[in-house]
Amino acid sequence: MSYHKAHEQDLLRKRTEQARNIARDCSLCPRKCRVNRIENETGFCNTGRLAQVASYNLHFGEETPLVGQGGSGTVFFAHCNLCCVFCQNYDISHNLTRHQEFSPDQLAEIFLELQSAGAENINLVTPSHVVFQILESLSVAAGKGLNIPLVYNTSSYDELDTLRILDGIVDIYLADSKFFGTDEAAKYAQAPDYPDKARKAILEMHRQVGSLMIDEQGRAKKGLMIRHLVMPGNLAGSEDWLDFFAAELPGDTYINIMDQYRPAGDAFRYPELKANVPGSVIIDLKKKARSLGLKRLDERSSGIFRQMF
Ligand code: SF4
Repeated sequence: MSYHKAHEQDLLRKRTEQARNIARDCSLCPRKCRVNRIENETGFCNTGRLAQVASYNLHFGEETPLVGQGGSGTVFFAHCNLCCVFCQNYDISHNLTRHQEFSPDQLAEIFLELQSAGAENINLVTPSHVVFQILESLSVAAGKGLNIPLVYNTSSYDELDTLRILDGIVDIYLADSKFFGTDEAAKYAQAPDYPDKARKAILEMHRQVGSLMIDEQGRAKKGLMIRHLVMPGNLAGSEDWLDFFAAELPGDTYINIMDQYRPAGDAFRYPELKANVPGSVIIDLKKKARSLGLKRLDERSSGIFRQMF
């Protein structure tokens, strides 16, 4: 989206107000805590009126179409509305400590600073609980020339009504597909409704932006990208996810079958989470994906950061 056109700024203003209204009795995400975020009350995500940012940087370890030449302009929001026990960013995501708060103007400056530094996009990591703050900041940044794609990098524990507010604003959805089964979602994220919510959210994201479009330089411009972190003992339900994608989405849907699982966070409390995933499992899953007609599988590059904050 190019934010400079007047009617698009009008759209941003309207959607910001819609999101703020939901946040007054917060049901921005499926937790539906019903707290007044505008009055700085906090629910499960431990985030009140202002967004907390843990860090921001040019990230060269995201999927190749997001990195391009300049890197992905990644903004890591602190706290999370899902909180998996094995989270690789446990210190940032779990809702225990506070991080630096940023006003809408300050967050807008981060977006603009990343754009000035050459970022190919603004990559909002863990955005589901700070949707209204993001929209407020976009309204400011739009007036100051922000014009690179917006990436919504989510666990997919998203509410449909909130995603619909983002229709026409988010360019690229980078969507996790975590647990296919309710038992695992309940045990490892206290979210038995995750599978149902995430499946619906991913279909809504695809409805909004379609399959991934890249430009002649190979840079992502618009569309859905799906991530699936394979877990030990098939705890994420990998084959079921692939069957779901093949049945519900086109064969050119961009899918990253990820082999990066490592025990982290509270994983040591669960014997089944201490294992690694054998490489052969990843190979077999990629074979299965191709046999189902899912032909656009990601080839990952290694992670490199240039820290700005
Ligand atoms: S965004 Fe936060 S406060 Fe709102 S429903 Fe979700 S977890 Fe609760």
